[in-house]
Amino acid sequence: QQANIGVTGLAVMGRNLARNLARHGYTVAVHNRTGARTRALVEEFGGEGAFVPAGSAAEFVASLERPRRVVVMVKAGAPTDAVVEEFASLLEPGDILVDGGNAHFLDTRRREAALRERGLHFVGAGISGGEEGALHGPSIMPGGSAESWASLRPLLESIAARVDGVPCTTHIGPDGAGHFVKMVHNGIEYADMQLIAESYDLLRNAGGLGPAELAEVFRTWNTGRLDSYLVEITADILAYSDPGTGRPFVDVVLDQAEQKGTGRWTVQTALDLGAPVNGIAEAVFARSTSGHAVLRKAARDLPGPPRTPVADPAGFADKVEQALYASKIVAYAQGFDEIAAGSAEYGWDIDLGATAAIWRGGCIIRAEFLDRIRAAYASDPKTPTLLTTPDFAEALAGAQEAWRDVVATAVRQGIPVPGFAAALAYYDSLRARRLPAALVQAQRDYFGAHTYHRTDKEGTFHTLWAESPRKEVPIGTPP
Ligand code: NDP
Repeated sequence: QQANIGVTGLAVMGRNLARNLARHGYTVAVHNRTGARTRALVEEFGGEGAFVPAGSAAEFVASLERPRRVVVMVKAGAPTDAVVEEFASLLEPGDILVDGGNAHFLDTRRREAALRERGLHFVGAGISGGEEGALHGPSIMPGGSAESWASLRPLLESIAARVDGVPCTTHIGPDGAGHFVKMVHNGIEYADMQLIAESYDLLRNAGGLGPAELAEVFRTWNTGRLDSYLVEITADILAYSDPGTGRPFVDVVLDQAEQKGTGRWTVQTALDLGAPVNGIAEAVFARSTSGHAVLRKAARDLPGPPRTPVADPAGFADKVEQALYASKIVAYAQGFDEIAAGSAEYGWDIDLGATAAIWRGGCIIRAEFLDRIRAAYASDPKTPTLLTTPDFAEALAGAQEAWRDVVATAVRQGIPVPGFAAALAYYDSLRARRLPAALVQAQRDYFGAHTYHRTDKEGTFHTLWAESPRKEVPIGTPP
C-alpha cells in the first residue's frame, strides 16, 4: 500500500505527529535512524491507523505516493541538514520535504533555496503545542511554495487544532516565513510567561498572598479577559504541593529558568530588523539573570527597601490584573510588529490577522485574547501597531493608572518587574510628543559629526562644535 505521507524522526514529536496523521485516516510511512523507534511505534500504536514501517530511507521513499510528502522531525541544526540532504538525494522534482523542527528561519531560507534549485519543494513548518499538541492538534505554521501548500493543506488542516471549526494552520508565506513566525510565537511566549511570573511575585511578596490563594486568583483571572492556557497552568501549578515534602511545588523548584534559543533568536532578529521588542527582550534577559548564579551570589547582600505588605490585597490583585493585561497587549503588539518587519524585509506578505487566528488553538500561547488581535487586524489590516486599535487602545487607557501604580509599588518595594516596566516604557515612548532622542542625536553630532535634522526646516546639518562662535553648516542638498 502506498503511503500518503511519511514521517522520519520518531522521537516524541515525530511519533505523535505520525499517530495524529494515522488517526485521521492517512496511511503514514514511518522511519527513524535507529530502527528500534520505528518498531516500537508500530508495536505500541499500530492499531491506531495505517502505518508503513521502513527500515531504510530508500524503502521509506519508495513507499510514498507521488508527489512524495516527507516530514522531517529530527534535532534542529546539523542533524536536520544531514537528514534533509539524505532524503533530498532520494526524492524527485515536485516532491515535498517538510522540516517540522525548530529551525532558524535563515537556515530554512538557505535549505529552501538549495532544494528549489533541484526542483524540490522545501517547507519549513513551525509546529507548536509540544508533544500533546503534536498528537491531539498542534498549531502549524508552514512556509514554502504555494504548490507545496496546496498539496499539504488537506493533511495539515485535518491534524491541526480547531477553534470555531477553523483549523489552526495557514500558509504563512514563502521560504522561511513559517519558521520566522514560529520563532516570534516563542518570543511572545517568553514575554507572556515572564509577565505572569511577575504578577505572581508581586502578589506573593507585596500582596502577601500564599500559593493556594494565588491559585484562586489566577483561576478567577482565567475566567475573564486573561483566559489562556498559560494562566490556566499557572493556577494548576500554584495549587500543587510537592508530594515528597508537602511544600508548595513552586517553592521546591530552583529559581533558574532555562532556554533553548528561540526567544534569543527573536531578540537577535529584532535587533537586526530594528524592531523594538523591549518587553520580549526583558523576558529573555530575565531568564539569563535567573540562571546567572555567580552574579546573583555576588550581589545577594546589596541593600533594598523594607517590604511592607500592601493594605488592600484584593484591590492590589485587581490592579495587577490590569497591569498584566496592559503589558500583555504591549508584548503581543511588539511580536506582531516584528513579524510585520520581517515580512517587509523578506517580501513574505504575511497576513497578521490570519497568524493571530491560527494561534487561538493548539499552541502554548493559545488564548481568547488572540481572537481580539485577529479582529483588530480584520478591521484595520494596515494598522502600524495594535496599541492604537480601538479595543486595545480602550483597554490600555482603562488600565494605565493601575499599571503605573503597580510598577511604582514594585519599584518602592524592590521587586523586579522588568517585563511590566519595559512594556510601560514602550507605551510611554510611543506616546511621547518629544523624546530625549533629540539630545542623543545632538551628542552624536558633537562627538562624531553624525549630523542631525531640524524640527523647523528640511535638510541635514552639522554644527561646528569646536569653533568659536559655533556655526551650523548644511550637509549635502535637502531632499
Ligand atoms: P529531538 O529533538 O530530541 O530529536 C531526536 C530525533 O532526531 C530522533 O528521532 C533522532 O534519531 C533524530 N536524530 C538526531 N540526530 C540525527 C541524525 N544525525 N540523523 C538522523 N536522525 C537524527 O526530538 P523531538 O521529538 O523532541 O523534536 C523534534 C524536532 O521538533 C526538533 O527540531 C525540536 O526542536 C522540534 N520541536 C520539539 C518540540 C517538543 O516539545 N519536544 C515542540 C516543537 C518543536 P535517533 O532515534 O536515531 O537518535
